[in-house]
Amino acid sequence: YTVAMSRTLTRSRQLQLRAEKFLPGGVDSPVRAFRAVGGDPPFVTHADGAYLFDADGNKYLDFFGSWGPMILGHAFPPVVDAIQKAASRGASFGASTAAEADLAELVTRCFPAVEKLRFVSSGTEACMSAIRLARGFTGRNFVIKFEGCYHGHSDAMLVKAGSGVATLGIPGSAGVPAETAMHTIALPYNDLDAVREVFAARPDEIACVIVEPVVGNAGTIAPAAEYLRGLRAITAEYGALLILDEVMTGFRLSLGGAQQVYGVKPDLTTLGKIIGGGLPCGAFGGRADVMEFLAPLGPVYQAGTLSGNPLAMTAGIATLSHLIKYEEEVYNGLESTTARIAEGVAGVAREAGISLTTNRVGSMFTWFFSDKPVTDFASAAKSDTEAFGRFHRAMLDAGVWLPPSQFEAAFVSTAHGEAEIGMVLEAARRSLS
Ligand code: PMP
Repeated sequence: YTVAMSRTLTRSRQLQLRAEKFLPGGVDSPVRAFRAVGGDPPFVTHADGAYLFDADGNKYLDFFGSWGPMILGHAFPPVVDAIQKAASRGASFGASTAAEADLAELVTRCFPAVEKLRFVSSGTEACMSAIRLARGFTGRNFVIKFEGCYHGHSDAMLVKAGSGVATLGIPGSAGVPAETAMHTIALPYNDLDAVREVFAARPDEIACVIVEPVVGNAGTIAPAAEYLRGLRAITAEYGALLILDEVMTGFRLSLGGAQQVYGVKPDLTTLGKIIGGGLPCGAFGGRADVMEFLAPLGPVYQAGTLSGNPLAMTAGIATLSHLIKYEEEVYNGLESTTARIAEGVAGVAREAGISLTTNRVGSMFTWFFSDKPVTDFASAAKSDTEAFGRFHRAMLDAGVWLPPSQFEAAFVSTAHGEAEIGMVLEAARRSLS
């Protein structure tokens, strides 16, 4: 396998300097600036299958897949065709189209717990809206979330959040009034006793528990056995809603997401990423009696100019239709490819005398630079982030683009095959030596 030895980033550097004149940090989302790993962020010109191409003509094997959506690889022809056809009919109407119910029907077929849903334009909106709905439905104010989980950048959800908040080492965010965050209770992940204690102290005050069923935003962390069902039982006992944030895991871990894999039925589910086939799209849905609390039927207000956008709906339909049609082939293939990559590189590290803790669930995984098990944010935070940064830069030089933070999950697509497995192992051999 040929692995690039060196690369120039002259053009990307120029583009970064230009971008910094107009955009804070030169970016529209903080982690893209590579502050946590160092080095220059390549500017992408195009992508195809498992590969990204930058402005200097470098080619990279992609392991972040637009942070999850690109499960079928980049520029997947049926998705491209669908978007092109839809675009020629008009980009947005602000009025209803048949495609909204078409995509909704596909989602409800895959997620039996989602009886009704509403489309939005991002995962942030999906989670923010689901929480408002849970508060409106229960008439309660408090929300329990978990340290290192990320549910978008709405004010109340930035408390002890993962993803870029963890990457930049900031405890939350300036600009969030204490009064806004005071109803958010952040507890350690994988600790049911902590949840029981809070419910016992505030039996009638907690509207909902929101959780990433498999954490991706502190790096990949699997739920302990019976953890999710435990959350289900406690919330049901106290009349609070359970919200599974499947923005990352939905359609990735299985057609029915983590809730199918772990056999747990939430009241509400949030979705994003894959559901829009790479276009801006999210959704929240669940029990019909809860969803009917939304305007225009009920008292909880929620809206969006571009919600249910026809291009996003079309890309989502093309993506989900393929996943449904080839379900076994897709998910079995992703499982075995990702296992060979995650465990293969872990083996390379062992041979090089480097301790990694490899966490993998289906096609999402993280190599933590730590020799201890990673089961929550506190254990993830013990990783050697300097070492991760060096590894990240060396892998980029070898043509492999990992997510630029220790606290993010890597993703594999159906476009990753034998050649790509060989390539990442070879790149890891060079980088870890
Ligand atoms: N929830 C989870 C689990 C996520 O991973 C993300 C994004 N990484 C979000 C919510 C927010 O989604 P968005 O960036 O589309 O607003």
